[in-house]
Amino acid sequence: MLFDTHAHIDREPMCFDLDNLIPEYKKDGVDYIMLPAVEYESWERVLSISSKYDMVYGAIGIHPNDCHITDIKVLDEIEAILASNPKIKAIGEIGLDYYRSENKEEQKIWFKRQLEIAKEHKLPVIIHDREAHADVMALLDEVDSYKTGVIMHCYSGSVEMAKEYVKRGAYISFGGTVTFKNARVPKEVAKVVPMDKVLVETDSPWLAPHPFRGKPNSPSYVRLVAATVAGLKEVSLEELANAAKTNAKKVFKI
Ligand SMILES: [Zn+2]
Repeated sequence: MLFDTHAHIDREPMCFDLDNLIPEYKKDGVDYIMLPAVEYESWERVLSISSKYDMVYGAIGIHPNDCHITDIKVLDEIEAILASNPKIKAIGEIGLDYYRSENKEEQKIWFKRQLEIAKEHKLPVIIHDREAHADVMALLDEVDSYKTGVIMHCYSGSVEMAKEYVKRGAYISFGGTVTFKNARVPKEVAKVVPMDKVLVETDSPWLAPHPFRGKPNSPSYVRLVAATVAGLKEVSLEELANAAKTNAKKVFKI
């Protein structure tokens, strides 16, 4: 009944053991996994894993932390990839990351170009926004990506901004952070996002939810995220998980 909308199962240690792990995830109630690309080298893995396993879908894109070491010409390849890989359902993960990077202008160029590609292909975008809230929203507004789908991955903005995104039609994806005891704002956000805009994810192998914080994450733990969000919204786990799965299938056109 669960859809993990963000899991990097192409990373160590999961990638070595997927033939065994995929059935485990299924047994734990995970029906679907979205595997987003990060750097250019990950594209090949995203394509092969998503084509090999029924339950896995992929997204192609360049993460803001990797744009400075990648030639922007690689974006021309997306066209060919989409034409021959029906399991690729989104452009991602893309966005802006002002935590580690000083190349803000370069990041914006990459982000905008990838938003335009997604719009041309009527694909949703999976957004990484770290300490760049105002600029991310400004670019999403400028390109107007909402009609083809905007997914705010591991949303970390304010309650007010979440309401603005919802108004525009974006989806708010909750990850392990919402389960942390001191996560006051994400918990408030979970309360205000309507059921038809909620998604759940793990961001495996990073950001494991409570009580596994600091340990390797797994798509199986998406249940813990869904249970926390369900508790905050005062609905059952089943109701929340099914709504989030329906939302994900809708935005990814699965
Ligand atoms: Zn990610």
